Amino acid sequence: MKADLKELFRQAEEMHPEMMKEWQFLVDRDCGPDCKEGVDRTVRDTADFLEAIGFSVRFHVYENAGNMLVAEYGDMNSPFVVLTGHLDTVFARGTVAGRPFAEENGRVTGPGVLDMKGGITILLYVCKILAENGYDRYPLKIILAGDEETGHARSGAAGDYLKEARGALMGFNLETGFTDNRVIVERKGVFQCRFDTEGIGAHAGNNPEDGRSAVRELSRKVWDIEELTDRTKGTNVNVGVFSGGTVANAVPEKASCVVDVRFRTNAELERVQRGLEKIAASSYVEGTKTTYTPIVRVAAMEKLPGTDELFSRAEKAAEESGLPPMKADSVGGGSDSAYLTAAGVPTLCALGVKGQYNHTVREWAEESSLTERTKLMLALLMKL
Ligand SMILES: [Zn+2]
Repeated sequence: MKADLKELFRQAEEMHPEMMKEWQFLVDRDCGPDCKEGVDRTVRDTADFLEAIGFSVRFHVYENAGNMLVAEYGDMNSPFVVLTGHLDTVFARGTVAGRPFAEENGRVTGPGVLDMKGGITILLYVCKILAENGYDRYPLKIILAGDEETGHARSGAAGDYLKEARGALMGFNLETGFTDNRVIVERKGVFQCRFDTEGIGAHAGNNPEDGRSAVRELSRKVWDIEELTDRTKGTNVNVGVFSGGTVANAVPEKASCVVDVRFRTNAELERVQRGLEKIAASSYVEGTKTTYTPIVRVAAMEKLPGTDELFSRAEKAAEESGLPPMKADSVGGGSDSAYLTAAGVPTLCALGVKGQYNHTVREWAEESSLTERTKLMLALLMKL
């Protein structure tokens, strides 16, 4: 391609007004978990945008969740780069009518402005600038989910993500950016489950020997459950809720608890899950029975052997291009980057517009970060 990075940066600056319009267009349509048709229309409009600049598009269609868009540019038989994000928000139907896109003193507000309609705008214009200048360094694959905020619980998007990402050289997720320019290289996964123990109730005064205490059984199990913690591996197992029994003078018939597991690698989660199943299956108090029910599972974005190298090369590319210094960080909250790393693709996350308070009415994004992060993505794709 003829244009150099300086020329691409100039084009990015020139496109700022057009990008603001696209950002507004994306924000001003309800795309919450109760709004599949809003997400699907945005998927369609985004596909049209990418098709117009030479991408070929495909869809994964789901009955009860927003669809997924896959767009490809270049020869996909060669090692490709993944750019990813999601088109849904957490905000319910009607939010746009009451709180549409607005800009004041360099701060932009509106539902999903930060998480992550700003990142999607960057992604689209990076593709547009590169395609219009004849980019041919790597084939590009865009994967945009329509149900990230619900953890793909009502679709097959998690599996589709894995299949689509496999074979990529590297991945960039234009998720919610941080104002201090942190780039996320690792995210802990979350798993939650409950234990329900059933014993045999009896009067504590008249016939305690006939009782089988569910509280006694489950409280012993709590120790075993938390023993699955392994801080050297970044795994924490916490029994955060416990309840049982009804009155002091009865042997309790029921007890239950809710467990929260945080883990750095998906292998650790498997170890903990096997342990939890074993704990549920055995009993201390004969005659009690415990069931184990998984509630939430968000995979960890693992730090792969190639992740540190990818970050340091990205850091160098940013510095050489006159962009602000970045730092690598690990956080607790999840994102779809977990599926890229699960497919073995070293990934950098949180490359979208910068701001604060996503998932709340106070959500805002820095207008200037729209151009800055567009330049960063151009630098990464031109230099790495
Ligand atoms: Zn997000």
